[in-house]
Amino acid sequence: MGCGLTKRSPVGTDGRTVSIVHTHGGVISMADFSLDPEFEEQLDWIRGFVKAEIEPLDLAFEGEETVYNKSGHLYSDVIRPLQQVVKDKGLWSCHLTPEYGGQGYGQVRLAYMNEILGRSQFAPTVFGSQAPDSGNAEILAHYGTDEQKERYLQPLLDGYISSCYSMTEPQGGADPGVFTTRAVLDGDEWVIDGEKWYSSSLRFAAFVIVMAVTDPDVSIYKGMSMFLVPTDSPGLEVIRNVGTGGEAEGHGGHAYVRYNAVRVPKDNLLGGEGQAFEVAQTRLGGGRLHHAMRTVGAVGRCLDMLCERALSRTTQGELLARKQMTQEKIADSWIELTQFRLQVLHAAWRVDQVGGHAARKEIAAVKVATPKVYREAVLRTMQLHGALGVSNEMPLSKMLMASVTMGIADGPTEVHKGTLAREVLKSYRPAEGDWPSEHLPDRRAAAREEFAEILEIVAAEY
Ligand SMILES: Cc1cc2nc3c(=O)[nH]c(=O)nc-3n(C[C@H](O)[C@H](O)[C@H](O)COP(=O)(O)OP(=O)(O)OC[C@H]3O[C@@H](n4cnc5c(N)ncnc54)[C@H](O)[C@@H]3O)c2cc1C
Repeated sequence: MGCGLTKRSPVGTDGRTVSIVHTHGGVISMADFSLDPEFEEQLDWIRGFVKAEIEPLDLAFEGEETVYNKSGHLYSDVIRPLQQVVKDKGLWSCHLTPEYGGQGYGQVRLAYMNEILGRSQFAPTVFGSQAPDSGNAEILAHYGTDEQKERYLQPLLDGYISSCYSMTEPQGGADPGVFTTRAVLDGDEWVIDGEKWYSSSLRFAAFVIVMAVTDPDVSIYKGMSMFLVPTDSPGLEVIRNVGTGGEAEGHGGHAYVRYNAVRVPKDNLLGGEGQAFEVAQTRLGGGRLHHAMRTVGAVGRCLDMLCERALSRTTQGELLARKQMTQEKIADSWIELTQFRLQVLHAAWRVDQVGGHAARKEIAAVKVATPKVYREAVLRTMQLHGALGVSNEMPLSKMLMASVTMGIADGPTEVHKGTLAREVLKSYRPAEGDWPSEHLPDRRAAAREEFAEILEIVAAEY
């Protein structure tokens, strides 16, 4: 029989309210996302600080690259003092353990924080949790040598340098099987050759983490390795920077880069040879949840704009808010925001309970939902703003492009749907025999057999 409904042992480990857990395809039905009052106060402080001190930076200093440029006046005169305030408040890089200057927060706390940070482009930088630096720092913390930690990790953690992650190649990103960038050991040095595409923020980075094939004769999952490559290495050539959406050709934050026999010391191999995928996992699980919760913040902003517009604009002598199709937009946006927020919090809670690997189904589901919920929310808000909505005088066109890129960056939606489906299927078995376990004639016959005696008595009563 297929297993539609199963019972599992309690999973709560930290005193949170979880007693019996029922699952449909592994969906957990009870969880507790409550926070202590002290942390609630911190969230209030973050909310006020982001609104008053950081959101204006998005307007005064537009352009993604300024978030990563750590050598200019904007960084030294404006961002760094704000970062100091965050550090003094004990809220710097909260995803890291105290050993690395963070708070070692679990994913639920980080989720609540990221919901607020998602309202501003500069906020993650001010709080020391900007991607890809946050994930790259985790890789160096896990796999770097003491010397690499001192030279690259510490300045990265302190917000003095930026970093880059270089995996995708021009011929494909979703399937690592097509990657051809090679690293070959030559004496005490690795020699890296190949091209990478969409290496974000490389132009401002002090180092790149590069994924390359070290053994072409085994499965790609055992034949790729990860390397730390300083960006001033001879042979590292930026072919051009690529932008998204309406950015002018030749401008943008994503490098098309060629590694021309770039040499790095043997020790710059991060993790063991052939362990690129294990190493990569270090950076992705939490990162996807943080992106998702920042998206919750952005979707909340869309709902705010939608409702304000509905209450401000009149047509045919009445407010837009009185039109049923406007009400439908508001209802749908609110429902999807609420569902998505709970989904992300639940995934964060699962990671805290069982770890990122065991919660990969929930993480994949969140990754799939993120672009969809975001895109639909932006489209409704755009529509209600009419021409203004699609103009460059509202933030919505940028948000629309951001929603689309969310379905591609860190792997396309289709790939994550595949992962999710495979994980869900693990809790099911094929039906025994030719008919489904819910086939009514078989079930009815079995039930009738069980109650045969009483059925006879009942029949005799009529
Ligand atoms: C804003 C942004 C930032 C990025 N930053 C980085 C970075 O810093 N470093 C880095 O290395 N990469 C980065 N990337 C690249 C990103 O990882 C790749 O774009 C992604 O993995 C998809 O690869 P691709 O673009 O080559 O698409 P392809 O692999 O060519 O896929 C194209 C499309 O084919 C379909 N498809 C692919 N596989 C499947 C499948 N299995 N089943 C069904 N359909 C499928 C999907 O519709 C997919 O979108 C970034 C991308 C974006 C948009």
